[in-house]
Amino acid sequence: MNPKQAPSSKGNSQSVRAGIQGAFLLLGFFLWAVWRMDGPMLEAFLDSPYNAVADVRMYLFFAHLSGQALGVLLVLAGLSLLVRNVWCRYLCPYGALLGLLSLASPLRVTRAKATCIDCERCTRACPSGIQVHRAGRVASDECTACYRCVSACPVKDTLEMRAPVGKAVAGWVFGLLAAGLFVAVTGLAMLSGHWRTSVSPGEYLQLIPAADALGHP
Ligand code: SF4
Ligand code: SF4
Repeated sequence: MNPKQAPSSKGNSQSVRAGIQGAFLLLGFFLWAVWRMDGPMLEAFLDSPYNAVADVRMYLFFAHLSGQALGVLLVLAGLSLLVRNVWCRYLCPYGALLGLLSLASPLRVTRAKATCIDCERCTRACPSGIQVHRAGRVASDECTACYRCVSACPVKDTLEMRAPVGKAVAGWVFGLLAAGLFVAVTGLAMLSGHWRTSVSPGEYLQLIPAADALGHP
């Protein structure tokens, strides 16, 4: 083994480390908040005028930013200068959820140790700071399958996206697979009647001007 190489388990420990990140704490908080609501409470919230215009309220939040919210955004912007992609990597609960789902994917960035020259270009190229040059298969919730490490690798057939068996998957194929999955899920939702909101245009016309005054149910 190359002296600079570490066991692949070190690369895999990325996902374990991620488990204690703030993003997972926030995700846990939101899941806990939903979990403690019973059926009638959930139904009341989903059918509430507040929920019907939740996106409008989000817009108003940023359009009429409070001093406190502005302070938080400035702190996050400052932290981003010190830690790369700090919000996405350590704080975003949605990113944590997607990261957990991504662990179910059979496709992973995979390094062929026999041909790897340990140049570390892959690790330097990774926007998520994953130690790709140490991993056998990248098993991190922070991997967004951006292929930058694969493109940066100078040795042919050494760093590839692949399942445990079968051929390597090219970037454009991966993109098609991701787009196909999106179309399949949204198409299924449309066909089963779960895509369109039950709020009518007339109700929106009434609710949107009053959105600012609507309280959380
Ligand atoms: S695919 Fe992108 S995020 Fe994943 S390990 Fe490679 S460079 Fe990092
Ligand atoms: S870029 Fe390729 S050759 Fe260099 S360390 Fe990464 S996998 Fe190995």
